[in-house]
Amino acid sequence: MLTSLADAGKLAYDKGYCNSQALPVIGIPKGLFYYEHRVLWESFFKILGFPVVVSEDTNKEILDYGIIHCSNETCLPVKVFHGHVYSLKDKADYIFIPRYTSLDKNEYTCPKFCGLPDMALLNLKNRIKVLEVKLHIDKDTGLTFESLKEIAKTLGVSYHDTVEAFRTALELFHEKKREFSRVNCYNQVRDLNKRAVSVLGHPYVIYDSYLSMKLIKKLKEKDIDVYTPVNLDHETKRHNAYPYQGRAFWEVGFENLGSAFTYAQDKNMNGIIYLSPFACGVDAFIIEYIERRFKDCYKVPFLKLIIDEHTGEAGFDTRVEAFLDMIG
Ligand code: SF4
Repeated sequence: MLTSLADAGKLAYDKGYCNSQALPVIGIPKGLFYYEHRVLWESFFKILGFPVVVSEDTNKEILDYGIIHCSNETCLPVKVFHGHVYSLKDKADYIFIPRYTSLDKNEYTCPKFCGLPDMALLNLKNRIKVLEVKLHIDKDTGLTFESLKEIAKTLGVSYHDTVEAFRTALELFHEKKREFSRVNCYNQVRDLNKRAVSVLGHPYVIYDSYLSMKLIKKLKEKDIDVYTPVNLDHETKRHNAYPYQGRAFWEVGFENLGSAFTYAQDKNMNGIIYLSPFACGVDAFIIEYIERRFKDCYKVPFLKLIIDEHTGEAGFDTRVEAFLDMIG
């Protein structure tokens, strides 16, 4: 089993894919799926032997590209994603945009993930070439292998090697995830001598330092420990994801619901901040449930922050400061 990207590169070298100068470059936009699955997809293409270029961290220029190419109603992270895709158009031969429909049984992704490759092609007026892998675990895992066949054909590599690269990358991804959970599990790392705040929201918002206005870094600089959904194990979140008996229909909804009610039950959690992007349909429901249940059952201080492309950092920081003063 491969344990690192260095091993993956070695495998690609052994397979003889790495010698050609003419290999197409694969662009991976640093948005949406990237924050959870970068190990999987970067490893996949590297194992196959293709050079990978990841877009830069989100910045004003990338955001502006996204705003220009999307309609006003689009949620902020999808606009930003388009900006990342646009920024790669002259750096990569193909842009990788997976089509996530469902990542578990009976749970679906947000509709914008289901149509992401089409949306990017349409909004960028076919100025890019897209490679997509379909993931629809609830209905048809065969779709994934069909799309891998398409990728193999487009890139001129064997289907067998493509499937092998996918399986190896998946193993590597799960291994890294297990390792991360082992080291960062909330119950083991919580330091009771320090204040703790939980930051909830979509990974592509809370871990994108431009969109989140460096919220996590700013809290840590104040000597506050920060915990997010990744510090909790899957079963605990499932168990606590009221009111859906563990099923939230939207996979992103489940992560935040389960985490909110788990952290809220812990008397050592000083406060919870939910960072939500403008125009997120999923959050409109999820935050409503969280707020209602917090009001009825828990006393944990809760701050909801909605960000859009016009949010000013000074006003944002003031609200965070006021919240921190309140929790003491
Ligand atoms: S879950 Fe919300 S933020 Fe994420 S893509 Fe869907 S609408 Fe946008």
